[in-house]
Amino acid sequence: MPLHTTDALILRTYQLGEADRIVVFLTSDRGKKRGVANRVRGLKSRFAGGLEPLTLARLAYYEREQRDLVRLSYVEPVRSPLMVRDGDGLGHVEYFAELIDECAPEADPNATLYRLGAAVVESLVDKVPVGRLARYVEYWVLRLQGVYPSLIACHRCGGDSVRGGQIDPTGGGFTCAACAVGQGIRLSAESVRFLRAASGTPPGGLADIGLPAEAARELEQAHRQLISVHLEKELRSSKVLRAMNRAT
Ligand SMILES: [Zn+2]
Repeated sequence: MPLHTTDALILRTYQLGEADRIVVFLTSDRGKKRGVANRVRGLKSRFAGGLEPLTLARLAYYEREQRDLVRLSYVEPVRSPLMVRDGDGLGHVEYFAELIDECAPEADPNATLYRLGAAVVESLVDKVPVGRLARYVEYWVLRLQGVYPSLIACHRCGGDSVRGGQIDPTGGGFTCAACAVGQGIRLSAESVRFLRAASGTPPGGLADIGLPAEAARELEQAHRQLISVHLEKELRSSKVLRAMNRAT
């Protein structure tokens, strides 16, 4: 059984019998994997503190012939969501992990998605404004899935997108306000400006990119709609976040 050592992002875990867990993780080099971690309890466990969703870790696993499930040897946390110090950021940890999990195909290497996930953990620890970070991550995950159209120009007339317009949730691209027909998802000039600026910036730079409250709400709704069309469901943690927002 060959042993692979890699950097990875933990996405989720679930119970397997009394003492073991199944771990879903995104590797930097071989895409998303599922593995069994034996004996996860106790301070001496080789997985202690490393299995929280959105932990950035150094880990090793054995591939098993003709089995999709790998066997984890150890997980050593490098950055942990337990280092996130503000409540809003913590509230989003599950959401980011679920979003990346749902959009990452099994064993399909995607270095850009891995780097995005790793940058999210760093940004949460560094207290990047979490609303902007969420819209940024949604935008990039959807772009990498081919769901988000290019926002550089109207795909009908080629005109500049700066005055806003609408996107077709079924993949028809971005149209400027003059060319827009039918029921699209509206994007104001402010939303387009934010996304265009954000697309050329690492998430650590988001504190310097403005996003007015109204555009933030518009983008949140637009992205929720795009995600549910694409995944054919609403994310569980997205419902939790909305319930939390209503309660505060
Ligand atoms: Zn146009």
